[in-house]
Amino acid sequence: MAADGKTKAAPVYLQENQSIEKRVKALLKEMTLKEKVGQMTQINATVLMGNGDWDRGPLNEQTMKKVLKDNHVGSILSGGGASPLPNNPEEWAKLTNAVQKYALENSRLKIPIIYGVDAVHGHNNIIGATLYPHNIGLSTSWNRSLVKEVNKQTAKEVRATGVHWNFSPVGDVARDIRWGRYYETFGEDPYLVSEMNEEAVIGQQGKDISKNNAVAATGKHFIGYSQPFNGMDRAPGDMSARTLREVFLPPFEAQIKAGVKTMMINSGAVNGVPVHASKYLLTDLLRKELGFKGVVVSDWEDIIKLVTVHKTAANYKEAIAMSINAGVDMSMVPIDAVEYTKLLIELVNEGGVSQKRIDEAVSRILTLKFELGLFEKPYVNEKKVNDLILNGNSALALQSARESMTLLKNEGNLLPLKKEQLKSIAVIGPGANSISNQMGGWTIEWQGATNPKEQPPGVTILEGIQKAVGKDVKVNFAEGVPAADKENNSAEITKAVNAAVKAAKNSDVVVLTVAEKPYAEGEGNTTTADLSQAQKELVKAVGAAGKKTILVGVTGRPVMMTDAINKSDAFLAAFLPGAEGGTAVADILFGNYNPSGELSFTWPKNIGQVPVYYNSLPGSGYDPLFPFEAGLSYTTYEYSSLKVGANVKKNGNIQVSVNVKNTGGRDGDEIVQIYSDQKAGGILTPDRKLIGFERVSLKAGETKTVTFKIPASQLAVVPGDVFSNSKREVMPGQYEILVEGQKAPFTVN
Ligand code: BGC
Repeated sequence: MAADGKTKAAPVYLQENQSIEKRVKALLKEMTLKEKVGQMTQINATVLMGNGDWDRGPLNEQTMKKVLKDNHVGSILSGGGASPLPNNPEEWAKLTNAVQKYALENSRLKIPIIYGVDAVHGHNNIIGATLYPHNIGLSTSWNRSLVKEVNKQTAKEVRATGVHWNFSPVGDVARDIRWGRYYETFGEDPYLVSEMNEEAVIGQQGKDISKNNAVAATGKHFIGYSQPFNGMDRAPGDMSARTLREVFLPPFEAQIKAGVKTMMINSGAVNGVPVHASKYLLTDLLRKELGFKGVVVSDWEDIIKLVTVHKTAANYKEAIAMSINAGVDMSMVPIDAVEYTKLLIELVNEGGVSQKRIDEAVSRILTLKFELGLFEKPYVNEKKVNDLILNGNSALALQSARESMTLLKNEGNLLPLKKEQLKSIAVIGPGANSISNQMGGWTIEWQGATNPKEQPPGVTILEGIQKAVGKDVKVNFAEGVPAADKENNSAEITKAVNAAVKAAKNSDVVVLTVAEKPYAEGEGNTTTADLSQAQKELVKAVGAAGKKTILVGVTGRPVMMTDAINKSDAFLAAFLPGAEGGTAVADILFGNYNPSGELSFTWPKNIGQVPVYYNSLPGSGYDPLFPFEAGLSYTTYEYSSLKVGANVKKNGNIQVSVNVKNTGGRDGDEIVQIYSDQKAGGILTPDRKLIGFERVSLKAGETKTVTFKIPASQLAVVPGDVFSNSKREVMPGQYEILVEGQKAPFTVN
């Protein structure tokens, strides 16, 4: 009550009916500098549970006070799936509610925290959430609406646990199979990656992120992150302005077009400048040129790395000035919130960082909190969360796993198997009965769910096959060897390999699974992309048993196993298919689903071919084991009557139509892809560049005319000399459209 007896009106920033802009301004006016820099700080939740970075357990009153009350930290994350224990939805909701309650009760101005996680293939931080294939598999479905739906469902489960911010989707374009984050991408084509990113952002954020089912998405990792010069995660990248703009920029443009609320920065350096300190990339390009209006968040501990890794700043304070002045709004894990906020305050007082820059960053962060509705609805319903999550959408997990499966070899039409003709089937190898291997990294733990007590629910390949064949066919299972080599276990390996050979010999047909053990980020770097030694022995010995063999790869990248593939009768790439992976594999093997996946990347013959991608420049040579867009079906398709509008305006559209007929005996889904080829434009351009695609369902015998209206802007390249000009434009001249062996010329003017 006010002194005159009337109820005092709530401050403007707490009035829901005021515009967000007004609320932000009003709130900013009330804030001290210390409260402001607190908003620019994001701390790992485990810090709140103890004194170390990775302590887990109940919230610790002392560290909560230090972080939230004394230093006004405005954001918490559970990085890399580092979750509270016990790990279930209700526990999560309780944790986020408790953190929020403490933050609100101890915030003078009642500013809620924003909580972030990496939910990169479903809400992968929680046992019981629905887990989908990793992006590399989703991209081989070429299914835009599927990607949107998967992201929508993920967002719903994330928000139900009191988390508002998801560090996804990855807009990086795959370039190098040695890189430990290959599987987090949507493949090697900038257009496909862009399309999938647009859908992923729309799926997560919806139209209104204040709603219960939406979260703020994050475009990451801006920009040039996926081409470390030697393939090793976070090694510096060196790339021309042309590559930066033609290959790496489009997916981020697509995210921004879709309204992405936040952007995370590349931990590495590009062309000699750490991206976290590049004013050109973070302000001139991202803000001024691309028009991004949301929050820029650093990646993990990346400001101090200007000192410790890149060695471009003399000390932490200088590093903070460089990053904030370049355009970073929020520091993810500045290690110590006390030290970070103290130094940033000093910088403002000394003029090293302007008050204006602080206000700009804080306004963006507060805007996001208002947009998310956190001031009005800071808590979630702990009672409802189990229902929401434990009723996970497994139909969608199954659809996405099925559509991602890519059949790359099927000699003598061994597949689909006919159950009636089989008495026994061997199921062998480390991909066969391991949820952990089929989930990959970013699952319960950063490096994957390796603890047997922490396995998320799912159907393994063995279980899928057992269910598909029922009692009539005997399943001889032998796990064989583990996915990764261990030391001094040769006796064990020999024994396991012998058991597998025995299973093979006793069976009519062999399903031989190979796998990569789960990994994430730098831990997944490899210089060989090889199968483990033990798996090589297993493959060789089982192959020598002489049975018809279907090789199934449970891997996050094209693993170098040319010999094994050549010696097998069939090869199915299952990628990291998530919870319903086992059912999906069985569906393909027994013909309950007609495979439709097509590679979104190139499968090299050997590691020496790397880097290799289909859209490399003429003269590079392209002779991989399986090219981009490879993928077999149980039916056949025929293309005819390709038509292209002959004259295209630079700012107009390319009209393309083509007839596709299902000429085989089964219904199926075909992915129609449109490529362009620019003729003699004065610069090197790829012989084929993807500019359109559509996934089309065709009944046996059915023909459909598929039409495309492709913006000519899809043809844009950086013309001429990149040292004097680095913007993309559409060049006038002669082009060709290429569709499945058919060609049609057109002119751009
Ligand atoms: C990764 C990011 C991730 C962050 C938080 C970093 O190591 O590079 O992709 O979002 O950790 O877990």
